[in-house]
Amino acid sequence: MLLAVIAVSLTVSVLVYLGLFGFAVSQYRSSREHAQSETVDPHEFSAKNRPETVYTSAELEYFDVLWKGEYGKWRASEYSANDTAYTYVHGPYCPHDEHALRIQTVSKWIVLSEHVWVCDACDRTYPYPDDEIGDGTIVERAMHRRIKRKRQANGSD
Ligand SMILES: [Zn+2]
Repeated sequence: MLLAVIAVSLTVSVLVYLGLFGFAVSQYRSSREHAQSETVDPHEFSAKNRPETVYTSAELEYFDVLWKGEYGKWRASEYSANDTAYTYVHGPYCPHDEHALRIQTVSKWIVLSEHVWVCDACDRTYPYPDDEIGDGTIVERAMHRRIKRKRQANGSD
């Protein structure tokens, strides 16, 4: 009888141990997978639509990559009389060949990972400014200034 009790309690503790271990492993795996599949959409910051009526377009290098911007109104010119003009930014593009960049997660040491912009055309990578880019309005503001200067130089309002 005593032997049976010992056998059962041993079996139970082994099962509990295995269960805990398995749980820990699966937690570790899912957090790893989460980090790997995490996406940072470079276009997310621009909630606006690309303008149909474009007055001025410009390019800008910011964070060492190329951004394109358009200043204009959302709708085609025949409907846009009362629309407000705005700056629209899209990108980033590879400064080397203007190919659209994508974001990739790369492992750094063992547990840390970081994001880079990758160009599939030339395989160049550019560091992704996780700490600085925020929602991207910093790029949008820089583009807005660039377009404003360009429009002033061109004599448009
Ligand atoms: Zn490239």
